[in-house]
Amino acid sequence: MTNHLNRTHDGFIQYSNDIHESGVMTPAAVVSTTALSSTHFDVIFIGAGFSGLIAARELSLRHRTVLLIEARDRIGGRTFTTKLGDQQYEMGGGWIHWSQPHVWSEITRYGLSICETNGATADRISLLLENGSRLKVLSMTNLFPEICRAMDDYSNVDGVQGRTVLPIPHNPFAAREVVELYDKLSMQDRLDHISASFNNNQDLYDVMDAYLSMNSQGKLSEGGFLDHLRWWALGDFDTARLFDKTSRYKILEGTSALARAILNDCHDIKLLLSTPVRSIQRTDDNQVTIFTDNGQSFTARSALITVPLNALYKMNFSPPLKLGKQRAINERQCRGGTKFAIKLEKPIGNWCGFAPYPNPITQAFTDDEEGTIIIAFGVDDLLNIRDFNAVQYELRKWLPDIQIKYIIGHDWRKDSFAEGTWGWFRPGQITSNLSILQEYEPPLFFASSDTANGWRSFMDGALESGLSVVQHIERYLKND
Ligand SMILES: Cc1cc2nc3c(=O)[nH]c(=O)nc-3n(C[C@H](O)[C@H](O)[C@H](O)COP(=O)(O)OP(=O)(O)OC[C@H]3O[C@@H](n4cnc5c(N)ncnc54)[C@H](O)[C@@H]3O)c2cc1C
Repeated sequence: MTNHLNRTHDGFIQYSNDIHESGVMTPAAVVSTTALSSTHFDVIFIGAGFSGLIAARELSLRHRTVLLIEARDRIGGRTFTTKLGDQQYEMGGGWIHWSQPHVWSEITRYGLSICETNGATADRISLLLENGSRLKVLSMTNLFPEICRAMDDYSNVDGVQGRTVLPIPHNPFAAREVVELYDKLSMQDRLDHISASFNNNQDLYDVMDAYLSMNSQGKLSEGGFLDHLRWWALGDFDTARLFDKTSRYKILEGTSALARAILNDCHDIKLLLSTPVRSIQRTDDNQVTIFTDNGQSFTARSALITVPLNALYKMNFSPPLKLGKQRAINERQCRGGTKFAIKLEKPIGNWCGFAPYPNPITQAFTDDEEGTIIIAFGVDDLLNIRDFNAVQYELRKWLPDIQIKYIIGHDWRKDSFAEGTWGWFRPGQITSNLSILQEYEPPLFFASSDTANGWRSFMDGALESGLSVVQHIERYLKND
């Protein structure tokens, strides 16, 4: 598999406050189709993230004529891999696991392999407490059993670790009544419910706050508790399993290698990069016309829209979508925070750090074996990740002696084609919005990791959602 690197506008490298590089090199910046012999297709796909790519592959292999339109100058959406020196970075989604059925099936199909993030099993942990003023360094052997106990308490809403709420995690409404009950809670509500179980151990409470706010990437009062229970259920109701599944294993060849492999497998696909779609019109004869920002238009018998939920409100639909869907789109979901990588001048070994909200970085850990690379997660927009001195200042609260060589990342919150990182619903939104967002309005179909059933907000969810819609489009095209 050749993974030639080209420059994308996405991403940045910050060497110091003065030396800045915009855009990075990535195998995801593939070549766009230059000449189209037709402007009419069976299906137009909007968005070349994993949900769009996988659906395009399946329908093109069924010999449907397919046009894939992508706003960015690259494929992969909220994932892309870059290389700097001999180091590979995942700028968006990166971790996968063999228990994620759709991702693993693609890894098998394309003969890809996995590698490990070392800090996911760090032996040294730094806790930044009391508004960042107190530092405590512990061994993982001592802290981990306590984290497991706190996670058990947090998730154990029913005496059986939440199993009655999401007995089948890939079927979000298998137990609708209890789901509705817990969907009302925020992550903070649940932490308040179990506060007595911490026995005044404020340090452990802060570790939980740090971990949970890293997951929802914001204030715990804004993140829905049900999304925590979903992660927990997908993690087999077990902390170690959950950590392994969400932050330990990466695709050795990079997520962009997978995106390219899927694209290369498509049959006779036309791909337009750097072509944002502005509006979608359904015509009286049930055709779809797509209008782009640069003044082009294309028609199709159907369209699959895979634009992230937080960016979908900007797309114009004529006639408008159903009222319920419009409401859900306009409500959006949590915005997320930041993920960025820091290259250090000197190695620090296998390390992990936690700090509760509103610390601008709530979790960070080393990625490579020697510990010269730290992957950090910030909440809301509390940290400008392009500000070299601000990032170094924050990191030194944990690791006073470090010197940063460079910061590499992408600001997903400011990215107008994403407006956020991974999906996390606010309290009540799963019950009120998820099913509505999943509904198709033929000839318009929708797919996104943000509205998947199982590993929603993960690459696996994008693949699940993209694969699920294929049969519906195919049936529609056959009967149309
Ligand atoms: C920082 C970060 C860390 C993450 N970590 C992980 C992880 O470790 N593991 C994991 O599994 N998942 C992770 N995720 C989540 C995962 O990357 C996403 O859920 C998944 O890739 C989304 O796929 P998608 O196809 O649904 O959406 P996207 O990848 O967002 O694809 C949608 C596409 O639509 C395009 N688009 C938007 N607007 C328009 C328009 N107007 N016209 C044309 N095209 C448009 C976008 O440019 C994009 O390419 C992470 C995400 C981020 C951002």
